[in-house]
Amino acid sequence: MPRSPATARSAGLALCFDGREPGLHPAMAPTRAAPGEVLFRPSVVLIDARDRAAAAPGSAFRGVLGHRAVGTLDGGAAGLVLTAPHIVCAVCDLCRSGLSAHCRLRRTLGLAGRDGVLSQTVSLPPTVARSVPAGVSPEAALFAPDIGRAILVARRAALASRAFVTVVGDGPLALITAQVLARENAHVRVLGRIPGREELCERWGVKHRPVDEAGRRGDQDLVIVCSDDPCDFEVASAQVRPRGVIAITPPAGSIEATPEALAACVRREATLLPADWGDIDEGLALLASGSPDTSRLISERLSLANAPRAFQPNPDRAALATLIDLPAPHPDA
Ligand SMILES: [Zn+2]
Repeated sequence: MPRSPATARSAGLALCFDGREPGLHPAMAPTRAAPGEVLFRPSVVLIDARDRAAAAPGSAFRGVLGHRAVGTLDGGAAGLVLTAPHIVCAVCDLCRSGLSAHCRLRRTLGLAGRDGVLSQTVSLPPTVARSVPAGVSPEAALFAPDIGRAILVARRAALASRAFVTVVGDGPLALITAQVLARENAHVRVLGRIPGREELCERWGVKHRPVDEAGRRGDQDLVIVCSDDPCDFEVASAQVRPRGVIAITPPAGSIEATPEALAACVRREATLLPADWGDIDEGLALLASGSPDTSRLISERLSLANAPRAFQPNPDRAALATLIDLPAPHPDA
C-alpha cells in the first residue's frame, strides 16, 4: 500500500487510508531512514481540507495520510523542522529549468504518490525539511505554506497597485491570505459564509461581508479564490472588474468553472492567476517577524489515537484546521 522506500518497520502507529476509511495501523512507522534520507519524528500534524479529500470516498490516494508536520530530525541537531509537501526528482527537464515545483515526477506527502507524515516516525528526503526559525511556535509554523502562497499572490498580482481586493472564502487559507494582503493594501475585504468570521476579521483590521450580501458590481481589481466551495469561481467572476485579476488557490476538490462564469471572465477580459504553492521559507520568515495571527485558525487538537475523527464530516472542522499531537515512539521500538 505505501509508496515510501522500503525500511524496517516498528510498532509505531500511522494513520493510513486503504480506499475505504482512515484507520490507525500498527507497525507502519520506520525504525530507520531509507538510504539517502533522514528519520523525521513529527510532534504535531495539521489536517486540512486537502488531507480530508485524500481520504474521502473515490480518492485514488492510498497510504499514510498527512502532508504538513512539525517535528525533529533524528538526533535533533537541526531544531524544529517543518515538512515541505513536495518531493521532486531534480533531474527532469522542468526541474533543470527552474520549474521544480512542476517536476514531472512530483510526489506530494500524504496526497499523491508518497506516504504522508501522520506517523510516529517518517523517512524523508532531507530537502523537504525546512528549519523553523527561533520564536516561531510549531502550531504557527504549520501555516507557513499558506503564508508563502499569499505572498506569491501579492507579488504576482502587483497587490499595492490594486484599489479593491476581495478574498473569497472562510477557511484558514482565506483568513491568512487576507491578513497577509492587508499588510500592503488597506482595501482588502473577505467574502464568506460562516457566522463569527466578522469578529475575527475585525480583530485583524480586515473588512468582512457575507458573500450573499455583497453586490455584484464587477468592480474588484483583484479577487482571490481561497475557498473549497466549487461555486466560488462564479462569485469571483461576478466580482472582478474589466481587465482585473482572479487568483485561484488550490481547492480540495473541483472548481466549478461554469460556461457562464468563464464567459463572464472573457467578457471582462479578466486575467486568471493560478497560485498552486508558494515559498515555505518566505512564509516562515514572515511568521518570524510576528505576523500573521494564526492562533485562531485551529478548531481542535486530537491525539493520534483519535486522529480518525479528524476525517469525519463536521462543518466546524471543515472550516478550520485540526491539529494531531503525536507521541514519541517507544524507545525500544
Ligand atoms: Zn523533476
